[in-house]
Amino acid sequence: MTTQPKTLISEQAIAEKVAGLGAQISRDYAGVDSLMLVGVLKGSFIFLADLSRRLTIPHTVDFIALSSYGNATTRATGEVRLMMDLRTTIAGKHVLIVEDIVDTGHTLDYLMRLLGAREPASLKACALVRKPDRREVDVELSYIGFDIPNKWVVGYGLDFADKFRTLPYIGYVDDARAS
Ligand code: 5GP
Repeated sequence: MTTQPKTLISEQAIAEKVAGLGAQISRDYAGVDSLMLVGVLKGSFIFLADLSRRLTIPHTVDFIALSSYGNATTRATGEVRLMMDLRTTIAGKHVLIVEDIVDTGHTLDYLMRLLGAREPASLKACALVRKPDRREVDVELSYIGFDIPNKWVVGYGLDFADKFRTLPYIGYVDDARAS
């Protein structure tokens, strides 16, 4: 595919939203010794980098990698597996999952159960974008950047077959997915 993705969310709109989320999270966790951000690879790496630098509270960063079974672009089966675990223990810590996108909700549901079982002091989730029409699992998102229509989005960490991840905006490619 060679066509450039069409803009859905501009670089400036993303920057403003991330600043707002950073301020809100900093307020909500004020007084907490240390917040641990858990970035979900690969898609969240740019969002996490920007969000973490907007926090005015002490925090640490770790990463986890998951993979969804099924087609490479639709990831349609809803089965999730752990590809790379955290390096640090989270028992007794305040943990905020940082996700790029919540689509059906299966990935976040899996992650909440996996990390919840490790007895963190608190466990919440933040996602930059969410597709409300695709939701299959009801999983709580404490912080949400944008609700978007049912399109395959790319850029700002999100890929289509590993392309477009480093676009500065979030765009969509018409023929990326038949859904
Ligand atoms: P879930 O359906 O479990 O909520 O999302 C599964 C995963 O599919 C997400 O974590 C993300 O990696 C991927 N995904 C879902 N929708 C999109 C999309 O529009 N664009 C991209 N690049 N990835 C998506």
